[in-house]
Amino acid sequence: MKKLAVIGGGIAGVSAAHLLHDKYDVTLFERNKYLGGNNHSAQITSRGNLFKVPMGVITFPRADLFVHTIAYAKKFNLPLVQKTIAHAFTLNQELEYCLTHHPRVPRDLSFKRIKREISDAWYLLNKFKNCPKYNDLKLGDLIRLGHISENSAKYFLAPFAALYLSMPYMAIFDLPAHIIADWWAKYCLPINSMYMFSYIKGGNHQLIDAFIERSQLKLKQGVKITNIKRTGENVELYYDGISEVFDKVVLAIRPDEALALLDNPTANETSLLKQIDVGSVITTLHKNSQYSYFGALTADVREQPGKDPYVVSTLGQNTCFGYDLEDEHYVSIHQPGMHPVPDDQIIHQEELKIPLPTKSSIDALDNIDSLNNNSFNTYFCGSYFGKYFYHEDAITSAIKVAKTLASNV
Ligand SMILES: Cc1cc2nc3c(=O)[nH]c(=O)nc-3n(C[C@H](O)[C@H](O)[C@H](O)COP(=O)(O)OP(=O)(O)OC[C@H]3O[C@@H](n4cnc5c(N)ncnc54)[C@H](O)[C@@H]3O)c2cc1C
Repeated sequence: MKKLAVIGGGIAGVSAAHLLHDKYDVTLFERNKYLGGNNHSAQITSRGNLFKVPMGVITFPRADLFVHTIAYAKKFNLPLVQKTIAHAFTLNQELEYCLTHHPRVPRDLSFKRIKREISDAWYLLNKFKNCPKYNDLKLGDLIRLGHISENSAKYFLAPFAALYLSMPYMAIFDLPAHIIADWWAKYCLPINSMYMFSYIKGGNHQLIDAFIERSQLKLKQGVKITNIKRTGENVELYYDGISEVFDKVVLAIRPDEALALLDNPTANETSLLKQIDVGSVITTLHKNSQYSYFGALTADVREQPGKDPYVVSTLGQNTCFGYDLEDEHYVSIHQPGMHPVPDDQIIHQEELKIPLPTKSSIDALDNIDSLNNNSFNTYFCGSYFGKYFYHEDAITSAIKVAKTLASNV
């Protein structure tokens, strides 16, 4: 059997390794002591039981768009839940809007009006889609031009997008409005689809575990690849002060990391991998209920004197995912440089790095598949192959690479 190395034990890497384990002699390298990458969970004990609560991947919005994620969960007999996850939007922790009716939420919150305004803005953008001037419009311009009200954009659409695109709140206003409009149309309109959030009961990490349990491979966890040398004949990987030769290598890591590892990247690899922007979010597990409105997924816009506002998104694990924790535990996500959760309340905290759907990144997608048309026996996959960099995009790209490699044994 030919030797294949998969670098990266996130969802892209474990699914690629699983799909190829019977065609190749597969070694999976993951630098962390745990698998999952951004699909990572923190372990807590409650009522004497062990729970794994998600710190990264939270839900699979729109089951009809998360086709492979859902299909694999079903194939592996993982218990899928489809549930309404109430969304609350607060400004400095005061309720502004709520997406789902809740007994404690006044009915006159003007969600219908916001929905209409956002639909209007989306219609406008589509109407002028082929006009370059409109393609260059940013969300901030739409507000200035009066196409969307300041209130709807600042306290509903922007926190919503910051939450689901893992972008800093202020960056949302600089995104081309057509990127937000396309994302909104795909994932959030019709808004009724929002009640169909899917997740795996007991934690999304189970999908990662299932791929690994069903694969025969050499698992090198806690091993970081430091360099990749390609000869045209084979590929040499460097780790732990040694090197190992493989016939083929799949890089299931972030684009910036892939570029840094390649000893001699091609011009196409350099320009495409550089073009994809990468950012970080801080995700914190704590027990303080003040960050979440009645346990719902709450996006709170925090205004601060003399500084840019930012968003803290918080969800209650019992309320949103039906965990049976003795005390409600919350996960709050926000941009780096902010410290909304005091140190003495932090149970677990991590910084997760992700590709961002900026204009530059999305423009790169036109040519992204060309990364896998090389003669160097190296293949690329990961969430950055899809438009909004979701879990499903990572699996889809891994399937594509696995198909190429399976026919190429
Ligand atoms: C806070 C947060 C919430 C999110 N929520 C959702 C959500 O609700 N729904 C959704 O669909 N998506 C969500 N996402 C996005 C989702 O997490 C990603 O799309 C997906 O997990 C990316 O998978 P991946 O395999 O492409 O990359 P990653 O998960 O980044 O995996 C890459 C792996 O490669 C390893 N690695 C890197 N370099 C090396 C090296 N040199 N040697 C060995 N190993 C290496 C890394 O340690 C990592 O484990 C969220 C992301 C974040 C940060």
